Amino acid sequence: MKEILFTSNKSNTIMTKGEGMYLWDENGNKYLDFVAGWAVNVLGHSPEIITDVLYKQSKELLSCSPQFYNKKMIEFAKLLVDNSAFEKVFFTSTGAEANEGAIKLARKYGKLKLNGAYEIITLKNSFHGRTLATMSASGKEKFKELYEPKVTGFKHVLINDISDLKKNITKNTCAIMLELIQGEGGVNLLDEMYIKEVRKICDELKILLIFDEIQTGFGRTGKLFAYEHFNIIPDIMTVGKGIGGGLPLSAMLTHKFLDIFEVGDQGGTYCGNPITMAVGIAVLNEIIEKKLSINSQKMGDLICSELSKISKVKNIRGKGLLIAFELENIYGGKFIQKAMENGLLINSPKENTIRLFPAINIMKEHIDRFFELFKETLIQF
Ligand SMILES: *Cc1c(COP(=O)(O)O)cnc(C)c1O
Repeated sequence: MKEILFTSNKSNTIMTKGEGMYLWDENGNKYLDFVAGWAVNVLGHSPEIITDVLYKQSKELLSCSPQFYNKKMIEFAKLLVDNSAFEKVFFTSTGAEANEGAIKLARKYGKLKLNGAYEIITLKNSFHGRTLATMSASGKEKFKELYEPKVTGFKHVLINDISDLKKNITKNTCAIMLELIQGEGGVNLLDEMYIKEVRKICDELKILLIFDEIQTGFGRTGKLFAYEHFNIIPDIMTVGKGIGGGLPLSAMLTHKFLDIFEVGDQGGTYCGNPITMAVGIAVLNEIIEKKLSINSQKMGDLICSELSKISKVKNIRGKGLLIAFELENIYGGKFIQKAMENGLLINSPKENTIRLFPAINIMKEHIDRFFELFKETLIQF
């Protein structure tokens, strides 16, 4: 692995196989996976539903250039529209790319409808991706001094603070972009009142509201999309991670009034390629048919109620199967390392915080096993 360019401190463990809720490394060690590829493998590892469709579609058509529509792209766009509050879809491959599309669309709208307004307001602590523009959009403290000069036109305001937001809106503002639950920021929830107030402000000023649902979408929070919890519909929504069940797929959903891109404004070689489209269709159909959003809510509630019985676990928060909590006086990085040695994969987005985001088709038996391994690890501290 010395040939791989260093970008982060990765574990030396090499994973070789995945099946359902479990991963195996090259030495045959088995891990119960509560990270799920970072909220990606919503149906678990290598489910037949995905492997079958991959085989079938790869025999039919892998790619046919963005010059043509393809059947799977048309079918998937319709399925997304039928199951959401949106009428238009633009497909991409990664979350960051979907957000880039949202940023471009907001700026295009600002140019056409708001006298050239281009500024986008996001929240402090937010995470929107790792391209230069989405790093600039992110309110992550550590990104601040990186890769200067960044893409200009982003302002970061305090979470759940309407007056800080209002202070920062000017005639240059074209959009407000929010994660309904900040995932990378440590699972911080937006207040319902705040979201409703932001929608009102956007309506009054004709500013666009963008929800980044890349982590919260596809059944993760107990609804197909997190906006359904609040009955607040954004002007643009981006989705990623779970949508492809493990394949690189993302999308931007929007409304007819924002069908304003002109030739040359936006595109990409892999936008809507048949192989990821076929997988996306299979994933979404499975979530709907098996009512996995409801399962996400039920299993999430079960995990939270069991966690609340453990005295070292503090400040349990989240929705559905996007859960975080703090471990009293235990450093998260150390804890997840020990958990892994015991055969359990969990995540720590910061300091003492532990985050859980397993596959949404998880069953009670996996949760029972989780608590065995979790408690076994806790005793070692
Ligand atoms: C993961 C994530 C992204 C970036 O997605 P990539 O596929 O890594 O580019 C953007 N926004 C949110 C909220 C995310 O959780």
